[in-house]
Amino acid sequence: MKFCVLGSGSRGNSVLVKTPKACLLIDSGFSGAETITRLEQAGYSPEQVDAILISHEHIDHIRSVKILHEKYNISLFANRSTANAVRKILKTKLSFKIFLTNRPFLFKDIVVEPFSVFHDAAEPVGFTFKHNNLKLSIATDLGFPSSAVKEKMKDSDFIVLESNHDEEMLMKSRRPHVLKKRILGRHGHLSNTSAGNLLSHLLHGNLQKVILAHLSQECNRPKLALDTIQHIVSQEDIPFPKIETAFQDRISPLYTA
Ligand SMILES: [Zn+2]
Ligand SMILES: [Zn+2]
Repeated sequence: MKFCVLGSGSRGNSVLVKTPKACLLIDSGFSGAETITRLEQAGYSPEQVDAILISHEHIDHIRSVKILHEKYNISLFANRSTANAVRKILKTKLSFKIFLTNRPFLFKDIVVEPFSVFHDAAEPVGFTFKHNNLKLSIATDLGFPSSAVKEKMKDSDFIVLESNHDEEMLMKSRRPHVLKKRILGRHGHLSNTSAGNLLSHLLHGNLQKVILAHLSQECNRPKLALDTIQHIVSQEDIPFPKIETAFQDRISPLYTA
């Protein structure tokens, strides 16, 4: 299994997951042209992509689903509430393959499990992917690391996890009070500290790599996110994995799991 974060942040999110038989995009929040450029930078073409799995209907996750579906015949997968919300937001009658939240399904040679997360959307999910005894978990928009989320993400070999903001930077920012409240709330976005606390529950001997995602441009810095999280996970008695950040403006390396 290979994966690449094509980019992550409030201006667009997309992760490529590739196995010998399947090529998936998890969300497609950049424009069509930008997504194709980034796919090519990772060594792939849109013709190779089988399906886009949609985590939730916010525009930074769905911007190019219609164009990619129509131009390249890429299937769209979502739960029913998200599918309806996407149709409404994009004002189009898109056809979806519907999955059930918290119910694993097989796509070619990969087992996908969408799991429920707290976020201010219709029925938001994170995903786990299992192939050849390896597990990748992706959770980018969640306000609160519930015990159900911990349970779904445990035993991962690779994790892509939101580390949205530094709470102090957020409070000092000039953002309106209501937006601050939304971000900090249980249905908002995960802070560096919350991401670190969640990761310290997910540490185990085989966890190889963690990629921090959806970093706020205004209320976070990659080094601050890394330092905060490394400090939290280093309190545990388990050696912690390599932690990196994803970026908004460029793709990550192509990781091999
Ligand atoms: Zn969102
Ligand atoms: Zn988002």
